[in-house]
Amino acid sequence: MIYVTKTFLPPQEEYQNILTRVWETAWLTNRGVLVLELEEKLKNYLKVPNILAMANGTLPLQIAIKALNITGEIITTPFSYVATTSSISWEGCTPVFVDIDPKYLTIDETKIEAAITLKTEAILATHVFGNPCAVEAIEVIAKKHNLKVIYDAAHCFGVAYKGKSLLSYGDVSTCSFHATKLFHTGEGGAIVANDETLYDALFSHHNFGHKGNEAFQGIGINGKMSELQAAMGLAVFPYINDIFKERESIVQRYNAVLENLDIQILAIREGTHWNNSYYPIIFKDIAQLDRVQEALNSEEIYPRRYFYPSLNTLDYVGKQSCPISESVASRVLCLPLYVGLGTLDQDKIIDTILSNL
Ligand SMILES: *Cc1c(COP(=O)(O)O)cnc(C)c1O
Repeated sequence: MIYVTKTFLPPQEEYQNILTRVWETAWLTNRGVLVLELEEKLKNYLKVPNILAMANGTLPLQIAIKALNITGEIITTPFSYVATTSSISWEGCTPVFVDIDPKYLTIDETKIEAAITLKTEAILATHVFGNPCAVEAIEVIAKKHNLKVIYDAAHCFGVAYKGKSLLSYGDVSTCSFHATKLFHTGEGGAIVANDETLYDALFSHHNFGHKGNEAFQGIGINGKMSELQAAMGLAVFPYINDIFKERESIVQRYNAVLENLDIQILAIREGTHWNNSYYPIIFKDIAQLDRVQEALNSEEIYPRRYFYPSLNTLDYVGKQSCPISESVASRVLCLPLYVGLGTLDQDKIIDTILSNL
């Protein structure tokens, strides 16, 4: 069986050695030494001013909306994982969808201004597949209209844009360390803020609003990462450069064949040091996708339709039309891409695609 991804697991003894530290202190959560150590490592590696480890990659989105006091409309992308949209609705805000750029698959910055109303308070966009949004243009629009910018950076571990971490753009960026992501802690996530006051507010929100043991400053929730999660992160971390290297060679092997065909592959925005996080291909039509998917499935290869359906078609967001996103979402398939995908298996995937186009 070949799935779209396979979680990278470090040698079990290495995880156990780190867990020994948990057993010695019997300290399992509330920002113990392992969470603090993981945050320090990630901060240095990702070159960000701060990073707050959290329980998953969805709570940071919700907490960001909360900490920025957003209650009205949020302009967002229809082409992402459902958590991007559900977080907006869950926080009682209204998602307003702006269609995507057909080349880069990120929100189409040229269509944002037309969607701004008196109720618009923020832009929440996804650097989908680790491909940066048009961050400079979005910054100009946000400044002009006094909007906050939140980036769902769940796919962006290690991505740099114009020489800076992609996480350093916008007011807040959120990360996911879910088991299916490039760097993981089983379940987990993090948030990065570019302003210390905002960081303090995010911190407080992720810990029930605690101000010391006996006082509270506003409402909060429990978004804390546990020591067991951090232990997994610390065990995976030493392998991160190997993970990047192997993924890059798999992507190059796909590219060598697939970029010469009459199907669309991901175009990475210029100036990006990409992380080879996903390998989406966009077929000519749904029939072609169905044909290839069926052929792969019959070989026990299971790519995923990331991201389908287009999020503007969710039943809780009201009817909004995004023809480009709907079209891409109906034709996209992400190919298997993970450490340990052997070249024979990869060639089988490629051959099956080639013979069923
Ligand atoms: C994975 C993902 C999330 C959610 O992360 P979890 O850690 O699973 O909560 C949010 N947004 C995008 C784009 C994702 O791919």
